[in-house]
Amino acid sequence: MKRIAILGSTGSIGTQTLDVVRANPDRFEVYAISAHHSIDKLIAQAREFHPEVVCIADESLLPQLRDALHDLPIKVWGGAQSIAEMVTFPSIDIVVAAMVGYAGLQPTIEAIKAGKTIALANKETLVVAGELITRLAIEHHCPILPVDSEHSAIFQSLVGEEQNEIEKIILTASGGPFLHLSKEDLEKVTPVQALCHPNWEMGAKITIDSASMMNKGFEVIEAKWLFGVNIDQIEVVVHPQSIVHSAVQYRDGAVKAQLGAPDMRLPIQYALTYPERAISSFPRISLTELGQLTFLKPDLERFPNLRLAYKAIERGGNIPCALNAANEVANLAFREGKIGFMQMPEIIANTMDKVSFIANPTYDDLVSTDSLARTLSEASLTHNSKFIIQNYFHV
Ligand code: MG
Repeated sequence: MKRIAILGSTGSIGTQTLDVVRANPDRFEVYAISAHHSIDKLIAQAREFHPEVVCIADESLLPQLRDALHDLPIKVWGGAQSIAEMVTFPSIDIVVAAMVGYAGLQPTIEAIKAGKTIALANKETLVVAGELITRLAIEHHCPILPVDSEHSAIFQSLVGEEQNEIEKIILTASGGPFLHLSKEDLEKVTPVQALCHPNWEMGAKITIDSASMMNKGFEVIEAKWLFGVNIDQIEVVVHPQSIVHSAVQYRDGAVKAQLGAPDMRLPIQYALTYPERAISSFPRISLTELGQLTFLKPDLERFPNLRLAYKAIERGGNIPCALNAANEVANLAFREGKIGFMQMPEIIANTMDKVSFIANPTYDDLVSTDSLARTLSEASLTHNSKFIIQNYFHV
């Protein structure tokens, strides 16, 4: 029996993790769950799974949560600090880090320091602090198992190849809903259009990141840290069907890939049961029904976010942290209708240029870079507003 903590249990990865638990009641026990502010879902999950601890990041909702669960023997906590404390409980075996964005960093660090196995869905953690996280994980002998479908595919292609060096990683990308739009048309897309991903059902933030290809940029950075390769060993390939989830090329030229239906429950379950594969009822693919799979080069002109992510990791230090913070601000501003789709990369590029470079940032340096980059990005939102409003009239 593995005892698991799920950070971000009410989000897309969190709820699918609970699906996996539901299907494998003899393997997993939900020990702790946390959410940012989705209190009703969190209450329902607590009533179903009876965890030891339930935590809500938004402290103002704590009295309501306590009230709703007062009849159950559950510890009910509130605040970001409590989430970071919750993951250190000695009984927890695996922490599923499925929070959105920068908020995942601190609790993941605490979980690593407490020696927990991490099932990592929160890629922003490695974007912001890849070097720090990798170092801590080695120091504390703490395995980080990828949940991201591409990285799970790479991981699955590496199993049994421990002796062999990676020549190249082939990181596949669906290309999102706007794969074939011109630059002019991209300027006019709306949040509603961007939120319709062709293959994957995900949370709002990552769906926008997929449409802008920032998600793929983040995944390049994530792959670099998870698998210890150089950026020039990672090739992004657009594969609109999302069947080949990624691949590894070895020095003899052999390429090993993992294929499957676009369903996050498989990589989630694999991270939780590794090295075993558990029986599942997830959808199967039929190669003859699929007929053909296609592969294209990504277009860095129409999707400048991917280029920005490459630039950020090439510069290194605290710049990927600034990239992430600026993207969180721009992504939200786009979803709220404050800026156009193509203003996102402008704001991010501008912020990356203005942040002062720190080559070897400490955790505190990253905290201050994050906060400075957010302030700079917020400022460029208002600065651009006239242009943006004009842009909106064209929509
Ligand atoms: Mg992915």
